Amino acid sequence: MHTRDLSDHATYEAGRGIEEVARKLGRDPGEFVTLSSNENPHGPSPAAVEAIRETAGEVNDYPKAAHADLREAIGDRRGVDPRQVWLANGGDGAIDYLSRAFLEPGDDVLVPDPGFAYYGMSSRFHHGDVREYALSKGEGFAQDAETVLGTYDGERIVYLTSPHNPSGSTIPLPEVETIAERTGEETLIVVDEAYGEFADRESALALIEGREDVAVLRTFSKAYGLAGLRLGYALVPAAWADAYARVNTPFAASEVACRAGLAALDDTEHVARSVESAAAARAAFEERVEAPVWESEGNFVLIEVGDATAVTETLQKRGVIVRDCSSFGLPECIRITCGTDEETDRAIEELNAVLAERSAEAER
Ligand SMILES: *Cc1c(COP(=O)(O)O)cnc(C)c1O
Repeated sequence: MHTRDLSDHATYEAGRGIEEVARKLGRDPGEFVTLSSNENPHGPSPAAVEAIRETAGEVNDYPKAAHADLREAIGDRRGVDPRQVWLANGGDGAIDYLSRAFLEPGDDVLVPDPGFAYYGMSSRFHHGDVREYALSKGEGFAQDAETVLGTYDGERIVYLTSPHNPSGSTIPLPEVETIAERTGEETLIVVDEAYGEFADRESALALIEGREDVAVLRTFSKAYGLAGLRLGYALVPAAWADAYARVNTPFAASEVACRAGLAALDDTEHVARSVESAAAARAAFEERVEAPVWESEGNFVLIEVGDATAVTETLQKRGVIVRDCSSFGLPECIRITCGTDEETDRAIEELNAVLAERSAEAER
């Protein structure tokens, strides 16, 4: 008995969690702050927590009305028909739905390097292949049409990430439009706005009305603080919105997730606070970290530290868990999530101490 050939399939490397690190080091999880997975440091919206509690006694039923209600509420808020809201089990699930709807075996997707690993994974699951366009570290991971079109070769899906993970750079809307214009009629441009709430930028949703070849990805995992629930969606053009019924895994977005999502959408205060706090943390990192910090519009910053693996390990021993970006192909960089004020302060102090220690050692 064999699985199919999975040798091309990379496994997803998540940021380290507290329990995992604490167990490995034989320490109390309470001693650590986790700033490795771009989770919301303010927790979920209290309204969502309440909705989760209330829904607990009803999970014997399949999610039906809640799913429809959430599509409707998102459609309402975004000014699109609910049919254009492809609700899924996380943003990752929405990526899978786009793969299912578009990829024929052997089709290619074009993804950023460095970039979010799941684009390529999803393509491979669906018997597609992956090509990469390079975002240059030397140019601040700048994103524009030229960078993408210079590599584009008729791929079926082109992924843009704005704000980009792990750098935090964004792509201006006119550049997205140029890419959509100059790529083939059967090429879909997916603008992944998982961190869209944190950026002071117009959503690529503005392009969907006039075009059939742009989709936008959004998630409840980041600004809404619901990563553990798994809830995300794609916003797609009306022209092919009905394909959802043919690619949607039945009940993939759970009753609990949908009810929490509905409550979180109404809790604008929680999102506003999360966005403000991330902006303050970014400013603190940029001002106070004694190493190059890339300007970011997400809830995280990328920092050049030299040996990322060594710095990550030392920071971990000091109780601060960050993301080693070696797996992104950036072995000299770490990514730190914006924490609460206290968490961010602690991360900055510990990082500066580690950097100072390392430079003193290097001089010896
Ligand atoms: C976190 C993230 C997502 C979606 O995550 P889900 O938890 O599956 O919703 C999508 N794209 C990028 C770039 C991300 O960082």
